[in-house]
Amino acid sequence: MKQTQPHRGIGASIIAGFFVVLALMVSLTIVGLRHVSETNARLRGIAENNNVKAELAVAMQTALRERALSMHALTVLTDPFDKDAETQRFHALGADYVAARQRLEQLPLSGEERAIIEHIRTLTRVAQPEVQAVMDMGMEDENPAMIDRIRNSAMPRQREIAKQVSDLIQLQREHTAAAVREAEASYREVHDLMIALGASALFIGFLIATLVSRRVSRQARQLADQALYDSLTGLPNRCLLHDRLEQAIALSPRNKRPFAVALMDIDHFKTVNDTLGHDVGDELLREVAQRLKQTVRADDTVARMGGDEFVMILHGFTEDNVARFAEKLLARLSPPFIWHGQAIDISASVGFSMFPLHAEDSGSLIRYADIAMYAAKRSGKGHALYETKMEQADRTNLSLKGELREAIQEGRLTLYYQPKISNGDCGLVGLEALVRWEHPKLGLLTPDQFVPLAEGSGLIGPLTQWVLKTALAQLGELHARGHPLNMSVNLSARSLHDLELPQLVSELLAGSGVAAKFLTLEVTESAVMAHPDSAMAILARLDRMGITLAIDDFGTGYSSLSHLKQLPMDEIKIDKSFVMDMEKNENDAVIVRSTINLAHNLGLKVVAEGVESKEAWTMLNALGCDHAQGYYLSRPLPPERLAAWLDNFSGALQASLRPPRAAPAVI
Ligand code: C2E
Ligand code: CA
Ligand code: CA
Repeated sequence: MKQTQPHRGIGASIIAGFFVVLALMVSLTIVGLRHVSETNARLRGIAENNNVKAELAVAMQTALRERALSMHALTVLTDPFDKDAETQRFHALGADYVAARQRLEQLPLSGEERAIIEHIRTLTRVAQPEVQAVMDMGMEDENPAMIDRIRNSAMPRQREIAKQVSDLIQLQREHTAAAVREAEASYREVHDLMIALGASALFIGFLIATLVSRRVSRQARQLADQALYDSLTGLPNRCLLHDRLEQAIALSPRNKRPFAVALMDIDHFKTVNDTLGHDVGDELLREVAQRLKQTVRADDTVARMGGDEFVMILHGFTEDNVARFAEKLLARLSPPFIWHGQAIDISASVGFSMFPLHAEDSGSLIRYADIAMYAAKRSGKGHALYETKMEQADRTNLSLKGELREAIQEGRLTLYYQPKISNGDCGLVGLEALVRWEHPKLGLLTPDQFVPLAEGSGLIGPLTQWVLKTALAQLGELHARGHPLNMSVNLSARSLHDLELPQLVSELLAGSGVAAKFLTLEVTESAVMAHPDSAMAILARLDRMGITLAIDDFGTGYSSLSHLKQLPMDEIKIDKSFVMDMEKNENDAVIVRSTINLAHNLGLKVVAEGVESKEAWTMLNALGCDHAQGYYLSRPLPPERLAAWLDNFSGALQASLRPPRAAPAVI
């Protein structure tokens, strides 16, 4: 819908422009034609009038000339008949002359013409008696006197009149010439006007065309921008990235420069988005884009693939540069992002593929960088360069999913049980069920190797169900054999999104005949934060059912103890990363101690996991930690060894765990 808007605008502009130019051309033609026709009419009037007047003036001149000849003829004629005829001709010519003059007088005359004609009339009046006298002499045969009179008096007068008539003719000729000149000027004027108007119509047409084409090209540029750039970060998008990659591939062999494709993904971006909101997520992506741009060289490309994935094309890059660049990149991202005064820490994983070493086409380069990025995430190292065996691992994953599905369906998974020991009296309080998969070819797989696979392929529901059912069955058996133990089961983040879970747990509890208070469900902080609303609802229902709830891996996630107050938790499990080294690392020891204190203040039980040494066990006892788990106390036990271990525990084992009575080390 949005896309059609500019075209409609451009179409309207073009049509409007066309009509403006058309209107200009039409008015130009009308003005020109009107002017020409007016000039034509005027000229025709002038020409017709002048023609008539000139004709009459010439008639007057002719009559005068003929009368002069007639007068002379009379002096030589002797025959009275001839004389008489000539006299009549003379008078007829006089009448012609007068008639022509009278007609001339009736025509529209200029002042000058009127003055000349008036003068002619006066001269004629003066000449008339003289001419009459000559004619009379002619009739009386007084030739010598007549000739004398003609020559000295009548002719000069007649000549004077003739001169005036020829002046009149000259004047009319001048008038006609002036009219022609005026017409020519008028035509020239029209011609100039037509050219001026034509030029301005052309100019306006050109102007409109320029404006429209500028608008069109601006809109085309905007559309191209929309198509090629990511609107959130302003970085090239997937489409332009592909283009740039093709370009780099085409140029690289020529200038002998290898290049790398780096694909980066922000760790736990979804959690940030879910807990802090999409606005924060967007702002974070913009900031990451800025930081990435500052890390690469000017001729390198940083593009956004979508989501929290960024791709960089790094020119002149070899395998030797990978580690240094990755460190620089991750260091750039390490300063926390500040959002309304709140600091948000992020980390990222980046995978590299090399041209032409790994692939020579854009699709494979991106795919390999992606595979390397996942390998980087799995290894926790933050960066990785593509290797062929990574792809094999990927392919293995695919077939592994199918096998996992079968293993769950056919109940071929196993639960190992790790004992949980009470610190004060070293009593056994419970077991944590830890799932294992005895793979026919790959051997015994730990949950880290297949639980993420289950989470990513819809198998987590059946897996959780199987674990709960098996653990409760085992627990029922233990209770029956006189071990009133507690059983801890781990829930994945996905399970906290499954609103059917409380119902399922309740049915399984009923099926096993074990009371709810013997079941502990462990969830991680980030699992709660991934779906806070559904997690809250599910946890509240489980709590009401009387199930013990524990926060697992405490200290590694985003939330704080104050956040936990809002959750119906009974127990906190301090992450093993703090416990394992606490006797050597003072920071870890401080964290463990303050966590225990804070948890106790909130009325929560504290479990330390990862107790690997006697020292750690002793320290935890001194700090008042409630329960502990770890290799020092017991490794997770396969079901077939559980019974023997339990029997053994109440004997020598338990006693050996008793911490020395000596004063505890002060931390
Ligand atoms: P977790 O819940 O933190 O479980 C404790 C892990 O620490 C177990 O690894 C356990 O074998 C190991 N561990 C116990 N004592 C020590 C020690 O002293 N030192 C060291 N270094 N490690 C110790 P495991 O069995 O490989 O399980 C790994 C994770 O997989 C568990 O972490 C848990 O989050 C998850 N998991 C295990 N079983 C299940 C399950 O049935 N369902 C789900 N959703 N997740 C499970
Ligand atoms: Ca656990
Ligand atoms: Ca843990």
